[in-house]
Amino acid sequence: MDCLFCQIVSKKVDSDIIYEDDEIIAFSDINPKTPIHKLIVPRKHIATINDLSADDTLLVGNMIQTARQLAGELNIADAGYRLVLNTNHDGGQIVYHIHLHLLGGRDLTWPPG
Ligand code: 5GP
Ligand code: ZN
Repeated sequence: MDCLFCQIVSKKVDSDIIYEDDEIIAFSDINPKTPIHKLIVPRKHIATINDLSADDTLLVGNMIQTARQLAGELNIADAGYRLVLNTNHDGGQIVYHIHLHLLGGRDLTWPPG
């Protein structure tokens, strides 16, 4: 499949992997928007959040639990961070394989642009 994140999952494309288990990998964003910018990605190809099924409920929970764990390891848990799931065009999605952004390391502005 011609999907960038499937290729990262299968290690045909290199990435800076910081975590992996049976269903999830996490790696550094190649173009970080904040001092800490990690992507938490399911191994399973799901194009957008709109494509989630009831069977994916535990997977999505595990993605958030992984982000929480990484935020602790990266020492941004207490200062704060942001978890983002961009969806489709208006949501700013560029890669059509779901991924949870973990953003932190500075005081983030709100609302987004
Ligand atoms: P989206 O806009 O789809 O929510 O986010 C896609 C993210 O993937 C962007 O933040 C972008 O910088 C990141 N990205 C795009 N191509 C690559 C790549 O080849 N490697 C890594 N590590 N990140 C990428
Ligand atoms: Zn994919």
